[in-house]
Amino acid sequence: MADNEYDYIIVGAGTAGCLLANRLSADANKRVLLLEAGKPDNYPWIHIPVGYLYCIGNPRTDWLYQTEADVGLNGRRLRYPRGKTLGGCSSINGMIYMRGQARDYDHWAKLTGNHEWCWDQVLPDFKAHENHYRLDHAEQAPADFADLHGHGGEWRIEKQRLRWDILDAFADAAAQAGFAHTADFNSGDNAGVGYFEVNQRQGWRWNTAKAFLRPAKKRNNFKSDYWPTGDQPALWNPRVDSANLHFIEAEDGLLYPLTPTGRFTIDRLRLNRSLLVNNRKQRAQRAHELILLQRYNEMVSLLENVNKEMSLLMDEQRSLLKEQRDLLRLLLRQ
Ligand SMILES: Cc1cc2nc3c(=O)[nH]c(=O)nc-3n(C[C@H](O)[C@H](O)[C@H](O)COP(=O)(O)OP(=O)(O)OC[C@H]3O[C@@H](n4cnc5c(N)ncnc54)[C@H](O)[C@@H]3O)c2cc1C
Repeated sequence: MADNEYDYIIVGAGTAGCLLANRLSADANKRVLLLEAGKPDNYPWIHIPVGYLYCIGNPRTDWLYQTEADVGLNGRRLRYPRGKTLGGCSSINGMIYMRGQARDYDHWAKLTGNHEWCWDQVLPDFKAHENHYRLDHAEQAPADFADLHGHGGEWRIEKQRLRWDILDAFADAAAQAGFAHTADFNSGDNAGVGYFEVNQRQGWRWNTAKAFLRPAKKRNNFKSDYWPTGDQPALWNPRVDSANLHFIEAEDGLLYPLTPTGRFTIDRLRLNRSLLVNNRKQRAQRAHELILLQRYNEMVSLLENVNKEMSLLMDEQRSLLKEQRDLLRLLLRQ
């Protein structure tokens, strides 16, 4: 197979993308390419747990999305962070290890009619990728802990390092109010009060790029690509035609046809980088113009509102003056 041919092209090296890349490239006969719009995860704040405060709202690591203005929020728009770097959101999130409720999985199985969504069916997959600290010394863990958790997988789960008296007091108060203390939020039942376990390793964030991508990178059948130098991210927009997977379309509109062997070929990728940059510059300029236009429109509507207020004030002044004049006339007549 030629170097530029792939069986799988994964768009987005985020949380799911890194895991997928690892699992798909485990088959040495399949060639896998992973494309990411953001930059590598070599930004220091990604790796220091408290650094998510500096990654959220930062164009280096966050797409900087905002919600639509909401009437219920007095017209405000809220930040909607999403990770834009290797590891995606797992590079900027709160690191809380939380699988979710068993009954939700069972509900999804019912809704989709797909039995594989059931909690019992997904549990072995959770266990397979786990490397749970409480099983580092399995003999010290509760007897049935290994029924729910795994060890030796890529996804490290550690004990929360943070501990505050006020949090302990709050947990005790919650327990008095009837919420049981729990040391495990991943048994399929989230009820209870306690400290979350986290995706960290020895005090560092453990994102999916470290967990799943690093091992995959050692494989000859795997390649990842991202935007290493430019300020603007590369956006790879895959397209399929209605019947079959026929081509992948990049942001520049060029088509990357399947090879006669049915694999994706992507040899024009590098050649067209300069074109991508130019297109991107034009788009950035257009985006800037649109922002200016939006600001202009906002100013106009602001001025219109001020005008309205002013004319209301003038009307009030006029009627006040009229009242004073009438009063004066009345007084003069007396
Ligand atoms: C601030 C924050 C805190 C959170 N806290 C927690 C927590 O504590 N615990 C928890 O369990 N969950 C948490 N979450 C949620 C969790 O992290 C996400 O649900 C999960 O990581 C999403 O994974 P994903 O693979 O769907 O997407 P992502 O991880 O977002 O991956 C998408 C990837 O695709 C890339 N991409 C997008 N478009 C393109 C394109 N056109 N071309 C190429 N690449 C592209 C992005 O840059 C990104 O890397 C949090 C999320 C956020 C944002």
